Amino acid sequence: MATENGVDAAALFADGGLTYDDFIILPGYVEHGIAEIELETALTRRISLKMPLVSSPMDTVTESAMAISLALLGGIGIIHYNNSVEEQAALVRKTKRFENGFITDPVALSPDHLIRDVDAIKERHGFSGIPITADGEAGGKLVGIVTARDIDFETDRDRPLREVMTTDVVTAHQGISLQEGNRILKESKKGKLPIVDDEGNLVSLMSRTDMRKNQDFPLASKDPSKQLLVGASISTHHEDRQRAEALVAAGVDVIVLDSAQGYSTYQIEMLNWIKEQYPDLQIVAGNVVTAEQCEGLIEAGADALRIGMGPGSICITQETVAVGRSQASAVYHCARAARKRGIPIIADGGVKLIGHIAQALAIGASTVMLGSMLAGTDESPGEYFYEGGVRVKRYRGMGSKEAMQARGARRYEAGEERIRVAQGVSGTVVDKGSVINYVPYLLQGVKHALQDLGERTIAELHEAMASGRLRFEKRSLSSREEAGVHGLYSYTPPHRFDRPEGYPRGKDKG
Ligand code: NAD
Ligand code: IMP
Repeated sequence: MATENGVDAAALFADGGLTYDDFIILPGYVEHGIAEIELETALTRRISLKMPLVSSPMDTVTESAMAISLALLGGIGIIHYNNSVEEQAALVRKTKRFENGFITDPVALSPDHLIRDVDAIKERHGFSGIPITADGEAGGKLVGIVTARDIDFETDRDRPLREVMTTDVVTAHQGISLQEGNRILKESKKGKLPIVDDEGNLVSLMSRTDMRKNQDFPLASKDPSKQLLVGASISTHHEDRQRAEALVAAGVDVIVLDSAQGYSTYQIEMLNWIKEQYPDLQIVAGNVVTAEQCEGLIEAGADALRIGMGPGSICITQETVAVGRSQASAVYHCARAARKRGIPIIADGGVKLIGHIAQALAIGASTVMLGSMLAGTDESPGEYFYEGGVRVKRYRGMGSKEAMQARGARRYEAGEERIRVAQGVSGTVVDKGSVINYVPYLLQGVKHALQDLGERTIAELHEAMASGRLRFEKRSLSSREEAGVHGLYSYTPPHRFDRPEGYPRGKDKG
């Protein structure tokens, strides 16, 4: 029943089947400047984040580059499981070891390597300032450095590096701050600053070309030992217990049980087993879409729930099995059930616009998981290429034929005939640049939404929704058309994210 001030969330969702595009939130009274809006939120029962974005555990979305950048910005990345146990654990370890501004696994060579080895590294990685260690390993004793200036005009590319390297190296000691390192780089006018330990072993490297990237990230998501937070997904298949063990050994902070239909005996068995082995590890269970499913998984020990069955941009689940739920209805009803038990929910899939993020939060989600919106960034796995003159990257469903083939198709197998029913597709998305620029843009948009609603924090937003203060209205098809750009012959979409000067693009990254 509509009123002149809209309806509360309970009335809005009394009829089923709503998507984000089916409703709008009515404005409140603006009492706060944008700078006062805070986006701190709960990821799980025990982990909180400074901003509500989580990257999806998909093999075209989250590996360590995405996990590092998102954690620096205050969110978290969930490393996908479409790889070997060792590969996934290594990606977790890489994220945990990351130190902002410091290259912790620098490429090193030994004095016996040749100039042509430096050429090969330049060709492959795009940089030629190489620290030289006694044994050629990253942790070895630093004995020199080779830079472009040492070898530029050398015609004999077979000369050993011992004959051309600079041995008088400006170094800094392990434990140096980012600001101090940047200052030394500036004053010494050197391109690279090797960081060494008490014994003179190479620990890490700072690079002048990275200085612009070495900004501070005050919102970074960190554990008590100041390492970045990272999540990883596993399946509910029995063999993934071994995967969970390896991920815990690598330092993972949260494990996501990744199933399309998460309310199953398999998921509850896995949940029980992990909780028995690692009682302190945070577990996200899902995916689920009904209050009953939420209650079952919370009862089994879930620390957060991932909500969404069928809304993903690459998803054909609802068409294939006719099971699932429209995403806004799923988020609202699950958030309501989980809120009673103090468990946060992640709205997963179907988010195409900044407004959708704001809507998911407004109807009870604590965080929002993004797939397509973060695919096609510098940090997503895969190379850029051109499709019809447009720079794109691949993005595919984890239930697509291609992704299933990649993980040996241990899923979707039916008896001996091995018929695989795909629940996702494979395609491309447009280049969005680096998440370091793109995500702050998204978050600023979300802050504008909170300001327009008259709320200052996500907790206040949830309170406003639960109390009925937040008002909503359904939208007709023509109201959606009215809300979009219309009547123009041509226009420039607002989403262009130029990289800062000097920021490497995709393949050129060194
Ligand atoms: P899955 O491996 O969990 O399930 C595939 C099949 O294996 C299902 O029939 C399942 O019941 C069964 N299974 C799971 N654990 C089992 C066990 N221990 N013993 C016996 N059988 C078991 O994979 P999935 O659920 O199909 O998902 C694959 C990927 O696709 C995931 O990344 C998922 O997120 C994604 N996906 C998501 C959605 C969505 O709407 N959110 C939809 C489809 C696929
Ligand atoms: P997007 O943000 O709309 O692109 O949706 C991403 C979400 O879709 C993921 O986080 C998964 O929950 C879901 N998903 C991933 N792979 C598949 C698939 O193959 N089929 C259906 N859904 C998928």
